[in-house]
Amino acid sequence: MAKILIVAEHAGGKLNPSTAKCVACASKIDGAQIDIAVFAADGAAVAAEAAKIQGVKTVLTVNNAANAEPLAAVLAPQVAAVAANYTHVFGPSTTFGKDLMPRVAALLGVGQLSDIAAVEGAYKFRRPVYAGNAIISVEAPQDKKLVATVRTASFQAAPQGGSAAVEAANVSASLPSHTRFVSRSAAATGRPDLQTAPRVVSGGRALGSADNFKIIFGLADKLNAGVGASRAAVDAGYAANELQVGQTGKIIAPELYVAIGISGAIQHLTGIKDARTIVAINKDSEAPIFEVADIGLVGDLFTVVPELEKALG
Ligand code: FAD
Repeated sequence: MAKILIVAEHAGGKLNPSTAKCVACASKIDGAQIDIAVFAADGAAVAAEAAKIQGVKTVLTVNNAANAEPLAAVLAPQVAAVAANYTHVFGPSTTFGKDLMPRVAALLGVGQLSDIAAVEGAYKFRRPVYAGNAIISVEAPQDKKLVATVRTASFQAAPQGGSAAVEAANVSASLPSHTRFVSRSAAATGRPDLQTAPRVVSGGRALGSADNFKIIFGLADKLNAGVGASRAAVDAGYAANELQVGQTGKIIAPELYVAIGISGAIQHLTGIKDARTIVAINKDSEAPIFEVADIGLVGDLFTVVPELEKALG
């Protein structure tokens, strides 16, 4: 039977929705036992949240002052130690998981399976390759521990309503001293987080300047949406780096994605292929974005967007 350990992602005493998505992925493996491990300085609040996810048997809290910040180098030996009792170790395909899980795999002496997008069996999964242009089936060796990241955009969060046991776990692992937390700098936008927002409005090169890009923020505010950008807009300095959507930016799966002045290059589309409804505004009716858009509006964004904003009240 598969015994799956999921490493909880959390910040500020709150569980990140990526954890419930990993549970949804793990639940697709027949008969699997699913446990979550919370590594924190004091993980009580996060563990209580994790215990409510349906399908979870036990939540292990590993409290240690060294876990106050999620440093991959510090967490990896602890995750590897807890993993001794498990057949599978899953983490999300987010910045957190992509930093941590390869280190865990290395410590356990196995390769990492990246970006699970669908489950075909306990050791057989589907994952995207070539920037999402192809999907392959991969099979991992059953006699080794399976360390994997889960493509969070491919799974709906497992529902609430569970009542898992919460247990404190003692982990003996020697922690490295070569890495220490210095400071965190994050832009506080006051807007919904791009990676978890149900609605996202993105702007592309067509905006022409950082000042013009404010039109995107205006519409996003009306829709209570997160803001994204194409790489061309980021490279040109119209939008901040962390707003980039796509192959080398964020992979997102909002209910509504509004692409404004974005041509629809494959590297951008990779980041939005799991969005439920795609709306495109572009003055070129031949733009590739219209091939994937559910709703398309051909027009000049500088006319259309203010009109749209006005209509939203
Ligand atoms: P453009 O392709 O220049 O498109 C601008 C669009 O705006 C055009 O369709 C035009 O018709 C329209 N337009 C112009 N004026 C107006 C107007 N007034 N009103 C309405 N529409 C107008 N790109 C990403 O986005 N994310 C990534 O993560 C990413 N990763 C990459 C990784 C690699 C390895 C490589 C090689 C490329 C990557 N790219 C990525 C870049 C990608 O190939 C495109 O260059 C980029 O997405 C183009 O951005 P854009 O659509 O904003 O600009």
